[in-house]
This record gives sequence, structure tokens and C-alpha cells, in this order.
Amino acid sequence: TPGIRPLVAGNWKMNGTSASLNELRMIGNGFMSGLDAETEALVCVPATLLSHAAEILSRTPVHAGGEDCHTKESGAYTGCISAEMLKDAGASHVIVGHSECREQRGEDDATVQAKATAAWRAGLVAIVCIGETQQQREAGATLDVLSRQVAGSVPPSATPSNTVVAYEPVWAIGTGLTPTAADVAEAHAHIREKLSEKLGAAAARIRILYGGSVKPSNAVELLGVRNVDGALVGGASLKAADFLGIAEAY
Ligand code: PEP
Repeated sequence: TPGIRPLVAGNWKMNGTSASLNELRMIGNGFMSGLDAETEALVCVPATLLSHAAEILSRTPVHAGGEDCHTKESGAYTGCISAEMLKDAGASHVIVGHSECREQRGEDDATVQAKATAAWRAGLVAIVCIGETQQQREAGATLDVLSRQVAGSVPPSATPSNTVVAYEPVWAIGTGLTPTAADVAEAHAHIREKLSEKLGAAAARIRILYGGSVKPSNAVELLGVRNVDGALVGGASLKAADFLGIAEAY
């Protein structure tokens, strides 16, 4: 989208130990040496690696982020991690409402919206994930689902500097399947329209990422689609060569 700096974001999910930090070093080095400065880069890592990741990436243009956060700042929530804790560990962004969290932990739109505002409270950028399931797509409900998720998951005071939206068709995540460029264009245009209805003029500059089986071989096609302002990359972000290959699509 004209005037928008694309964001290429990785999501390591529940992958990575200290041995994986070398890939992160290579990602950081890749962005230092020549990759288009027009592209912003981020790797969201497990909370256990976050402070190491932030330290490694601090000498590079690549940001470190969290993969999820609790809505509360602190308290009796055993095993949970707040946005403030992520910020303290060096995060700049946090993913909220990833389909795996929605599905595996029964997270609804209201919770996702509360997590986005928790992210802002801590000074983090929220990456709000939305996307239809296979069943919803087959039922022809994709655009309705996206309307409902934008209405429910994106806080009404979202701005281009505190919020990124990621369109991730659930059936395309980790499957190697991707929508056609025409389907991606339709979904992103629809999301942009719904954001405009909700947020007004600011919506024109909110980044809408595409996520779901992005790899170097399909990045040029997917990221070249109108209203696609970057990528959220799962599996291919675990290998520096693949992640850098995707970023080179710009
Ligand atoms: C994701 O989990 O955000 C994702 C897009 O995964 P993958 O790239 O592996 O499909």
C-alpha cells in the first residue's frame, strides 16, 4: 500500500531453545547487510528466549516480539505472561489472537481485543490475527467472519502506530496451502474497508499482513497483492535463509 512501510514478522510458536539463537543472529546479520531498509523486520519468539533475542537483535534493525500476552498486568495467573513482562524482556510487538490461541484455548474476539489494549498499555504494538477456517471458507462465510473479527478483535482506538492486523486463513497455516492472489486481494480489501468504517482515515495506513504458508517461493506473488503490507511467517521464520528470502520479496 502506498506510503506504508512493509513489515515482515516471524512467529516461532513453541519452537526454539538457546541453540536456535544462532538462526536469530543470522537473521539480524542479514538485515544489517543490505536488505532493503524500506522493510521493517520482527521475530516473535517464545518468552523463554525473548531477553536473549532482544539482546542479539539490539545491534540490528530487527525487532524482537512476544507471541501472546495476558490481559492483566500482574497477579495470580500461574503460567501466564503479561504485556509488561514482554516489554521488560525487550519486546516491541506482541501477537494477539493467533488462531492457535483462539482454537486451543478458546480465546474469543473480546479477549483478543482486551489483549490488544493490554499490549498498548505496556507500550507494545499489537499484531491482531484474524482469519477464517476451512469450514467457514467452504460455507462462503469468509468475508462475514472477517467483518465480525475486525469488529470484535480490533479496539476502536487502534492506530497505524499501535496496531497491525494479520490476515491468516486458518487452513493455510502450516499446511503448505495458500489462497490465490485474487482471494488474498479480496480478503485484504474487505479488511481495509471494515477498518475504515471503524477507524476512519487512519485505517488507510494500518498494516495488513498476510500469513499462512509464506515461503521464499511464493512471497513475491503473495506480498505483491494490493493491500498486503507484509507477512506473518511461521515455519519459514525458523530458518534464517528462508526468512531473509521472504523479506527479499520487497
Ligand atoms: C503463523 O502461524 O502465523 C503462520 C503463518 O504459520 P506458517 O507460516 O507456518 O503457515
